[in-house]
Amino acid sequence: MSAAQPTVLVVEDEAAQREILGYNLEAEGFRVLFAEDGDEGLLRIDEEQPDVIVLDWMLPRVSGIEICRQIKTRPETRAIPVIMLSARSEEVDRVRGLETGADDYVVKPYSIQELLARVRAQLRRVRPSTAGIQLEYHGIVLDSETHHVLRDGTQLKLGPTEFRLLATFMEKPGRVWSREQLLDRVWGRDIYVDSRTVDVHVGRLRKALCAHGGDDPLRTVRGAGYALG
Ligand code: CA
Repeated sequence: MSAAQPTVLVVEDEAAQREILGYNLEAEGFRVLFAEDGDEGLLRIDEEQPDVIVLDWMLPRVSGIEICRQIKTRPETRAIPVIMLSARSEEVDRVRGLETGADDYVVKPYSIQELLARVRAQLRRVRPSTAGIQLEYHGIVLDSETHHVLRDGTQLKLGPTEFRLLATFMEKPGRVWSREQLLDRVWGRDIYVDSRTVDVHVGRLRKALCAHGGDDPLRTVRGAGYALG
C-alpha cells in the first residue's frame, strides 16, 4: 500500500451505495474507508484522519447534517473537506447543507464521474502533491507528476520515502509535524515502523536538499517534531 495514496471516508448506510462508491474510488487510486452511520464515521475520522469525507445526508439515528456540523466544529477535523450526498434537490436544502460547513454538495442520483471530479477538486485543495500539482517553496520545486525535485534549478536525487516526506512538508510549510503524524502520512497506518525511522529519513532528506549548497530548510522542533521553514 502506498501511504501517499489519499484516503476517502465514505459514510453511507446503504450497502449498494457503499459498494459503488468504494469500487469507483479505489479504481481512481484512492484508499477507501467506510462507515455505516455517523457515530462510526466520527470514530473513523479520529482514527484515520481521512483526506476527504463523502457523507450521506440520510443516515440512521444521527443525520449527515448533524455529523457535518460536528466535523466542522471540532478544530482537529474542521479542515477535512466534506462532500454531502443527498436525495433532496431543493435549493433551500442545498443552502442548508452548505451552511453546516459542507464543502460541496451532490444530489442523488448523481453521476459517479461527477462525484469523482468533486472528490479530486477537494483533494487538489488539501493535498495538492497527490493531485499532480507542482509545489514550490523558496527555490525548491517538487513535481508530483514527474517525481522530480529541483533546488535553485538543480535536480536533486531523492529516494521514494524522502520524496513523500518532502511532499508532506511542502504542502504545509511552517506546520510542525510529529513523528507519529509523519509515520501515518508517509508510511501509512498499516505498516509498523519505529518512530526513529522518521529521524533517519529526515536526515537523508536534509542531506539531499543541501547536496548542492543552500541552507537546511528543515527545522527540528524539540519535543514536537519537524517543520519546513
Ligand atoms: Ca442513506
